[in-house]
Amino acid sequence: MSDPSNPSIAHLAGARPPATDWSSDELARALAAASEWAVGYRERVAEFPVLPHVVPGETRALLAQSPPREPESFESVLADFDQIVVPRLTHWNHPGFLAYFSSAARGPSVVAELLIAAVGVNAMLWRTSPAATELELVVTDWLRQAVGLPPCFRGVILDTASSSSFAAMLAARERAGENVRVDGVGGAGTVPLTTYVSDQAHSSIQKAAIAAGLGLASVRRIASGPRFRMDVHALDRALAEDVASGAHPMLIAATLGTTSTASMDPVGAIADIAEEYDTWLHVDAAYAGSAAMVPEAREPFRGWERADSIVINPHKWLGTSLDCSVLLFRDPDPFREALSLMPEYLKPEPGDGTNLMEFGLPLGRRFRALKLWVLFRCVGTHGLIDMLRNHMGMAADFAARIEADDRFELAAPVQFSTVCFRVRTGPGHEAPDEDTLNRRVLGRVNRMGRVFLSHTELDRRYTIRLSIGSVYTRGDDIDAALLSLGEAADAELAGVRRSR
Ligand code: PLP
Repeated sequence: MSDPSNPSIAHLAGARPPATDWSSDELARALAAASEWAVGYRERVAEFPVLPHVVPGETRALLAQSPPREPESFESVLADFDQIVVPRLTHWNHPGFLAYFSSAARGPSVVAELLIAAVGVNAMLWRTSPAATELELVVTDWLRQAVGLPPCFRGVILDTASSSSFAAMLAARERAGENVRVDGVGGAGTVPLTTYVSDQAHSSIQKAAIAAGLGLASVRRIASGPRFRMDVHALDRALAEDVASGAHPMLIAATLGTTSTASMDPVGAIADIAEEYDTWLHVDAAYAGSAAMVPEAREPFRGWERADSIVINPHKWLGTSLDCSVLLFRDPDPFREALSLMPEYLKPEPGDGTNLMEFGLPLGRRFRALKLWVLFRCVGTHGLIDMLRNHMGMAADFAARIEADDRFELAAPVQFSTVCFRVRTGPGHEAPDEDTLNRRVLGRVNRMGRVFLSHTELDRRYTIRLSIGSVYTRGDDIDAALLSLGEAADAELAGVRRSR
């Protein structure tokens, strides 16, 4: 209630409260318009170029530079979204999106996002949303079961794999027992804490070391062998050397499904070393973890059940929208010890359930569990396995056709739905510079607009990379990728021949 003795708000006393939101009718009309738009967009998404033809600043120049003073109709906002914003987006749900690791939302996840926004809960504490908390515990356990991990793992959902791996690193740091929580990294009696990854690991582990105050120099990048898998002998030597020089090996992060080639570190042998040195084993399976749902693809995961923590991103290869990263771990205590801090106003009541904010950096937590729950229920594990198999089948087909085409060569063993390859410069059309040739071919392909592929570097060579993750991608799109690549390679190889 306003205080009439307070002059700054006295004028509000007795004033009619302004409408603070749309009426139910207005909301219903806007939702109907938005859902009609969403259905139409998803029907015509393949008609857009995957990558927009835009220059920096173009979108910004088309947008109002200051906020409107008066309300505008939702129809006019939707029209601007449709005409200004959407044509200038990169279309992640396009069937020809074959770059990076996909993040394409299946229908059930799209609808779940609406429900999440409608209830708008913050699942930071059990008390602030009991059902959201318990749904999160249930649905992460569904994922655990689906990928064949034992019941000793429990899970939480964070925004991204970067956050999940960061939380795991903080838990590992806590378990290393250097009391960093209280004393900080430079505190009395602390010894250097070291982390081990392969040279193919995602940069998020190094970034976690920066953010954790441990520094990039604390991360040992272990050479990978010929199949881009961590060399366990080199790992063993690195730990032995570090121990001999007084360091404390804190964390080994094995990658199952590396970013460049989806290679699989030998996690069983790595688990032996982690056990020997009593080092935390984290498994980054952000992309490939979903593939463990497929029985015939599970073998290379053997040993991951010995990890202390594992991250799997359903937003990478299971069809939830960004963001949905599941962090599975055995022992909740190191996470609590590293990350739990309860100011008075958040203190749980006796008898409350699990408070999920204790397992990550942010306090506020979106109701992400709902989209994974809706997805599992509306697609079923059989449907999800079919999608994963279909993607792996299309990738195998693409790889076989690349291998059979003398303009191209495979650059790495094919894993799951990811294929790395190069345009050949061999006899007949030797380019002065193989990297430039491949960069130009990729540029041409992406400018054509039918598919979007990305690149990486393998053995210091520029490499083109295709990865399938969208439920909309079909054989036609793989044909289109091959056609675009063939045309681009022919054009560039002709150019190479002319320039010699
Ligand atoms: N781990 C791996 C293996 C990745 O490939 C990626 C991103 O592609 C990440 C972690 C980071 O994922 P996020 O964007 O969820 O932080």
